[in-house]
Amino acid sequence: MAFYVLQLLMLPGMYIYWSIALEVFDKTLCLPIYYARTRIMGETMEIGFIGIGQMGRHMSQRLLDAGYDLAVNDLRKEAAQHLLEKGAKWMDTPKSVAESCQFVLSSLPGPPEVEELVYGPSGLMAGWKKGDIYVDMSTNSPVTIRRVAVDAKSKGVEVLDAPVSGGTQGAKSGTLTIIVGGNAHSLQRVHKVLEPIGNKIFHVGDVGCGNIAKLVNNIIYAGCNAITAEGLVLGVKAGVDVNKLWKVITVSSGNNWCLEYQYPRTVFQNNFEPGFRINLALKDIGLALALGKEYGVPQPVATAVEQKFLDAKAAGLGDMAAPALILRLEEITGTQVRVQNL
Ligand code: NAD
Repeated sequence: MAFYVLQLLMLPGMYIYWSIALEVFDKTLCLPIYYARTRIMGETMEIGFIGIGQMGRHMSQRLLDAGYDLAVNDLRKEAAQHLLEKGAKWMDTPKSVAESCQFVLSSLPGPPEVEELVYGPSGLMAGWKKGDIYVDMSTNSPVTIRRVAVDAKSKGVEVLDAPVSGGTQGAKSGTLTIIVGGNAHSLQRVHKVLEPIGNKIFHVGDVGCGNIAKLVNNIIYAGCNAITAEGLVLGVKAGVDVNKLWKVITVSSGNNWCLEYQYPRTVFQNNFEPGFRINLALKDIGLALALGKEYGVPQPVATAVEQKFLDAKAAGLGDMAAPALILRLEEITGTQVRVQNL
């Protein structure tokens, strides 16, 4: 009897000894083996990020914060300084990014820059290896990204086009909408990498479809931006308080994203710090119009909107945030659409 009581008393102690032994084994042997294995197998390796601009600086920062090893490149090394200080690795060329990373992401202004990145003398094409995935998050031409996808395939590399929406605020908070075109299996492989960047990830079709959906979004956004400027200048000039106009329209049928979210941070505060620049909006309107020509879809409204943006660019506003479109109209009508306390 005494023997059984003694055994019972010893059990909790043995359990504690076993737990400690297992934990030591885990920490000293199992974890390093686990990490080494996953690194060799490739899926947790370094991520490449190219294009550390208004959007890319936040997107890449979020990847670092999520614990990914990052290899970065931009035409301007100083743009990546904040990332290098936090452990990111600088790469002198896109080729070396492709050589050391299985997944490469880019966020560049548009088609000519993506072409240079891929086909340039030290471009991605020269460094790609079979099994790599390239995710272009720029707002790009569907024609360009499809050509890149065909050429990449000849090297065994998959391409996804994954433009984003949500602006620099969305990039900072990881709440971007990511609109993906390409092979579903490749998206599955990079999904975890995209998650710190955007919390709404949509797969909309084959490669190129991400940009088609994004261009449709942006032409609608550009139209809302232009008509919101005209509407508010008219309302204020004709004698209604802008604060009251905003409150009425944001709960009425004229509401739109530009009025509800962008105007309070930009126009109302006279703050046109570059976020989504007029020049980038012009590039997107041009790409949407080219798509319309290719598919025989008339776009008279988009053509008029393009003229409004061209006018703003000609007036020297190209590097300002897109809502700065209103400045021209304010100037010629002698009206200001500003709000002290919304
Ligand atoms: P940006 O001009 O601020 O940044 C682009 C970066 O790419 C710059 O740092 C530039 O030096 C770098 N670059 C250009 N060519 C390069 C090359 N060949 N190799 C390496 N680096 C190169 O642009 P952004 O505002 O960050 O926009 C990036 C993309 O995201 C654009 O396609 C834009 O249309 C899209 N976008 C922007 C916003 C926004 O609010 N800014 C919102 C949604 C989508």
